Amino acid sequence: MRVLVTGGAGFIGSHLVDKLMELGHEVRVLDDLSEGSLDNVRRWLEDERFEFIKGDMRNPEIVKEAVKDVEAVFHLAANPEVRIGSQSPELLYETNVLITYNLLNAMRDSSTKYIVFTSSSTVYGDAEVIPTPEDYAPLEPISVYGGAKLAAEALISGYAHTFGFRALIFRLANIIGERSNHGVIYDFINKLRRNPEELEILGDGTQRKSYLHVSDTVEGMLKIFEHFRGIEKTVDFYNLGNDDWITVREIAEIVSGEMGLKPRFVFTGGVDGGRGWKGDVKFMRLSIEKAKKTGWRPRLNSYEAVRRTVGELL
Ligand code: NAD
Repeated sequence: MRVLVTGGAGFIGSHLVDKLMELGHEVRVLDDLSEGSLDNVRRWLEDERFEFIKGDMRNPEIVKEAVKDVEAVFHLAANPEVRIGSQSPELLYETNVLITYNLLNAMRDSSTKYIVFTSSSTVYGDAEVIPTPEDYAPLEPISVYGGAKLAAEALISGYAHTFGFRALIFRLANIIGERSNHGVIYDFINKLRRNPEELEILGDGTQRKSYLHVSDTVEGMLKIFEHFRGIEKTVDFYNLGNDDWITVREIAEIVSGEMGLKPRFVFTGGVDGGRGWKGDVKFMRLSIEKAKKTGWRPRLNSYEAVRRTVGELL
């Protein structure tokens, strides 16, 4: 297949690119390098099956050029920082909703058959059912980021049904692993490098969430995409996460232990009953039964994924 990976120089995107290249596909990446890095895809730059376009998807002309002659688009470009929502909602709108709109309009006029989108567990908000299944309702995001992801999902569904392409939407739990440049583990490691005596923990430390290693994520995305290609649905939704979950305090203990440190934990107390920041979902575990029915299973549980990631980032 010839595919486009938007955000392919980013954390998850570059792992997806590695796998697609290893499987023999032709891969074009569109990334503005605002968060990603060319180093993440450097090993493929000389390969004739690989093409890199540096460009900002807020510009519709760049997006039009990039979707030319591709069969599938894996749309991962976004600003994924939930925390910035209260200061910069317009940035989250532009880099999640507007760029998706530009992509869908470009796909309208192209021969592209599939869009695979990385949405997020944050569309469920403070779900009352845990583990949360794909058909949970009402969807009531509590962050601008979650709202923007849900808006993007809705646009993708509407365009797919109207303009005759097919859409596979993944709602991802917290994804961790080598090359990640944000999130709790990355933050803890950096704070402990600056001050090994003390670790500031946002919130009250009891936030409990599910973590999935990036290797399991990419494997799940590709396996479920193959399954999706063999069925009739126009749009389908899959959660990707883990069966277990882990508290922020436990993550702090693992990171400190792996670094051979015994810091004093200082909790900020957080907002709205111990959340790390405004819009932080305190308890998140997704039902992955639907994904498992396709034969996919995570190899690492949340604890193992955290431990592996600390080693990789160190
Ligand atoms: P990332 O920041 O590493 O990757 C995003 C990439 O998009 C970056 O390389 C960035 O340079 C690029 N980008 C941003 N704005 C752009 C623009 N206007 N034009 C072109 N490129 C642009 O983030 P990630 O963690 O790899 O996330 C990938 C996708 O998965 C995102 O859509 C994110 O919302 C989603 N997601 C991530 C997680 C997670 O835990 N990491 C969880 C749920 C969903």
